Amino acid sequence: MIPPIANDFVAGETPEAALAHVDEINARGVAGILNLLGEHYDERPPADADADAYVALVEAIADRGTDACVSVKPSQIGLDVGDAVFEENLARIVAAADAAGVFVWIDMEDHETTDVTLDAFERHARETDGGVGVCVQANLKRTREDLDRLAELPGKVRLVKGAYDEPGEIAYREKRRVDEAYREDLAFMFEAFDDGVAVGSHDPAMIEHARELHAEFGTPYEVQMLMGVRESAQFDLAANEDVTVYQYAPYGDKWFSYFYRRIRERKSNALFALRAILGN
Ligand code: FAD
Repeated sequence: MIPPIANDFVAGETPEAALAHVDEINARGVAGILNLLGEHYDERPPADADADAYVALVEAIADRGTDACVSVKPSQIGLDVGDAVFEENLARIVAAADAAGVFVWIDMEDHETTDVTLDAFERHARETDGGVGVCVQANLKRTREDLDRLAELPGKVRLVKGAYDEPGEIAYREKRRVDEAYREDLAFMFEAFDDGVAVGSHDPAMIEHARELHAEFGTPYEVQMLMGVRESAQFDLAANEDVTVYQYAPYGDKWFSYFYRRIRERKSNALFALRAILGN
């Protein structure tokens, strides 16, 4: 069982618990992005099993009429085993999701996976006419050029700052420079994208920048944040602004390392966890 503090960041161990969590946020105007926790499988069986789980999940989302989509990590569905395994499993998930009318996001992992991930996105974006989305990372120097290519495709693009520790030759490493790149990339997306822009950030400055760009260009946009991070801002935005808000809610039995990462990344989270452990 997931202990109470981890419950703030992880939507349960089972798909039923995750869907029940999404029901709660749906009732407060926020849509869900469900992610089954798991990554970097170096053998095929767990990759196939997680792909099966996503197929069942998209069918359950459609059957229940839940306002949710899914987000899949390439290394979770076989990329470390081989490109063909990843592509086969992704095709299976996208086919089931497309039949069920459920949107599929492809998360972006480290820079060695960028090309294969964008190529897979392009194929499925064309085949489903925009039923899939991909994440790109503002810390990578190549991203501005990747956005030129993505602007020509159907489907949505989520811009994030980037979670991986990348080398200086290919990535901005200074926070100020990453923030600058995020602003520039976002401005380009609002100007050049038709299918909408997904702002994957908790940063109030980036969300304000998106608000201004939306007022200038009229491009539809959505804000995506993680479960357990600035949740009151998520509900406020959904209630008071003309923007769709999504909460990325991970679930599954591999919750510990994800929870540990969330706790380590911010002192306030660590203090919160400590207070909960001490019982006040
Ligand atoms: P930061 O620069 O971390 O923070 C800026 C400001 O935001 C802070 O000063 C504070 O005001 C506010 N803030 C941030 N965190 C908190 C907090 N815990 N509590 C209170 N305030 C806070 N990365 C990838 O590499 N690949 C992916 O596929 C990917 N998918 C993502 C999907 C979603 C929906 C989200 C939200 C993030 C995703 N990320 C992904 C992670 C992303 O790259 C960043 O590492 C992460 O979002 C932190 O950057 P930030 O933009 O939120 O702002």
